[in-house]
Amino acid sequence: METSFRDQVSTITEDGKRRKWLYPKLIKGELYRLRNLFAGVLLIFLFAAPFVKVNGEQMVLLNVLERKFAFFGVLFTPQDFYLFVLGTLIFIVFIVLFTAVFGRVFCGWACPQTIFMEMVFRRIERWIEGDTVQRKKLDAGPLTLEKGFKKTLKHGLFLLISFLISNTFLAYIIGSDQLLQIIREPVSSHVGGFITICVFTLVFYIVFSHVRELVCTVVCPYGRLQGVLLDKSSMIVAYDYVRGEPRGKRKRNVENSGKGDCVDCGLCVDVCPTGIDIRKGTQMECINCTLCIDACDMVMDKIDRPKRLIGFMSDEQMESRKPFVISRRIYSYAAILVILTSVLGYLIGKRTDVETTILRASGTLYQMRDRGQVSNLYNAEFYNKTNKPLRFEVVPLEKGASIQYVTQPKVLDKSSSMKITFFVLRPQGSIKSYKSDLHLQVLSEGKVLENIKTTFIAPSN
Ligand code: SF4
Ligand code: SF4
Repeated sequence: METSFRDQVSTITEDGKRRKWLYPKLIKGELYRLRNLFAGVLLIFLFAAPFVKVNGEQMVLLNVLERKFAFFGVLFTPQDFYLFVLGTLIFIVFIVLFTAVFGRVFCGWACPQTIFMEMVFRRIERWIEGDTVQRKKLDAGPLTLEKGFKKTLKHGLFLLISFLISNTFLAYIIGSDQLLQIIREPVSSHVGGFITICVFTLVFYIVFSHVRELVCTVVCPYGRLQGVLLDKSSMIVAYDYVRGEPRGKRKRNVENSGKGDCVDCGLCVDVCPTGIDIRKGTQMECINCTLCIDACDMVMDKIDRPKRLIGFMSDEQMESRKPFVISRRIYSYAAILVILTSVLGYLIGKRTDVETTILRASGTLYQMRDRGQVSNLYNAEFYNKTNKPLRFEVVPLEKGASIQYVTQPKVLDKSSSMKITFFVLRPQGSIKSYKSDLHLQVLSEGKVLENIKTTFIAPSN
């Protein structure tokens, strides 16, 4: 198979001096319509998620600066960071598994970069500047009043949408309440926030108006990983060369023209948003957007040949002409995913509403009290991981034991911590050894939040 095309980047001219600007054609086939629908749902979710509240908490919050994360009303605080790390690991394994089975379909169908580029920015471009031929002509032509107007309008809208994306992106990071505060209050009170919004707006604008497909083909590390994640059993967008070759013009409804099914019309290349020719074989630049499948299906319809000359298939399938078989590698990834997900499920099940640390005050011994009692001093720290304020108390479980607060526990605000100090008093007669276990319960409105075990020292009887 010819492989010299791999020496060249599809978006750079052959002399390597200039960028080849792409003008992909739009074919509204069955997969495009499905993808359009899916992208619509994802766009609504992406813009709404940081502004919708579930249980008083942002539906999705990714505050990496303060290590606070919220998903569908459950708040994960810095104390739950191990859950976040495990969740991220699961997400990575899921992506690896998904890629090993379906190739880069995430890029073409679910990645925000592709969704915004193909479904928002390119759509605006088509509305304003027209189809492929009209856009090429406009770019090649001299600067006229019409061209100036169209370009200003397009870039104005691009900037406006980049501004909206920038605000939404910030709402995920710092929280929508804080973002709304930055918007409502004078710029002078939030100079940092205002500069951040402007910088992000500019970055998104440059990405969607100029960098475009280079994000997927050159910048994105996930795209670079395809070489190791894919193998011959992965289902990817592929050209069925067994059926298609030798390519060339063929007569309608003629079975044995000596030619394959590919009529070499080039439509699959014309629609490709990364400018590649999928007929040359698997390429890292392919984002599995499936536009070439729609384009080729349309051609096959016209020449009365079966669809899916370009389709989702593995190399193995193409060679053996047998159905898709799940490889051992995929079973292994799936097993790892199941194990990690079970561990995460178990840890989430065990997760408490309050994170408590209770330690005997360092450097102190026991204190002898009236009526044969002995006491120990404790320092405690509580962190409220819920999204509502909590009133709580500490109760010792040992017989005859009582609590004497040095600092009274106050109502603990959501996502906040508090330190208190208290004595635990016990009848000396009930203690058998110098050092014994002490069991405490943290209660809130009668509900046990946590069981704590610590130590108690007293003169032994
Ligand atoms: S669209 Fe189909 S028929 Fe046309 S060149 Fe591509 S593979 Fe061949
Ligand atoms: S080759 Fe086909 S699936 Fe791959 S990026 Fe181009 S149009 Fe999309």
